Amino acid sequence: MRLILLGPPGAGKGTQAQRLVSKHHIVQLSTGDMLRAAVKAGTPVGTKVKDIMDRGDLCPDALVVAIVADRIEEPDAKNGFILDGFPRTEAQAAALDRMLAEKGLALDGVVELKVDEDILIRRIENRVAEMTARGEPLRKDDNPEVLKTRLHAYRGQTAPLIHYYRDKGMLRTVDGMAPVEEVARAIEAILTKPKQRAAMQPTSTKSSKPQKTRQKSVKSVRKAAPKTTAKVKKSAAKAAKKVAKKVAKKAVKTAKAATKGGKKGQKRRPAGTGRRARG
Ligand code: ADP
Repeated sequence: MRLILLGPPGAGKGTQAQRLVSKHHIVQLSTGDMLRAAVKAGTPVGTKVKDIMDRGDLCPDALVVAIVADRIEEPDAKNGFILDGFPRTEAQAAALDRMLAEKGLALDGVVELKVDEDILIRRIENRVAEMTARGEPLRKDDNPEVLKTRLHAYRGQTAPLIHYYRDKGMLRTVDGMAPVEEVARAIEAILTKPKQRAAMQPTSTKSSKPQKTRQKSVKSVRKAAPKTTAKVKKSAAKAAKKVAKKVAKKAVKTAKAATKGGKKGQKRRPAGTGRRARG
């Protein structure tokens, strides 16, 4: 399973990602965590992004994309992943599309956690208060001033991704203000509905790869598919078969009608030809 969680800071992406991780045996890829680790380790990337992160601004696209590209190559990500905090800009989303297409992979969904921003600020304030009470170290960017910058970055650069994925027919929205359990149930329902899964396949059938390579990639994806999605895949396959049958039936009917009519110029192309079925 490959999933994107979209939502402003404090929307609960991390909480939901962790639940999905233990349930589906996939990894959570949080760019925020990766970048914080780089800062802590004092790597060149860390040194570069430290101030940007402390301010609450977004780190450079190229840098974040490179980190994600490396990370999804690792063996533990083969079973699937949840992207939390990535993509955050349209350039990152386009880079992710390319990355996945090159590997012959598709996303299973993009889930938007919709929240009320005023309540969100209170949520973060509570989180800060709770962490302080427990004596846990605070994130430098977990304070009301920086939060405003993070929200600003979300509205300006990340929120447009809602349209990006909606236009592709991949977006599913969940009420992020509901209790954690309820949000988790809503996400599960989205992930297990075959109809919706089918709609979440990328809309573009364009590929720079030759047909043979693409077929091979599809095969290896199938091979790598986690068992947990087997049921869903079965019903999706069933639905696809049904559509194929319908198209074939229509084609025969149209062909018959064309023969019957027989007049010059009346010949019609059988239905389902000349147009590629969506993957
Ligand atoms: P939040 O709690 O605001 O969702 P994250 O933990 O995901 O924050 O990220 C913290 C910071 O790391 C961001 O404010 C930003 O500076 C940087 N960051 C994380 N992911 C990205 C990304 N995909 N692109 C650019 N910057 C990022």
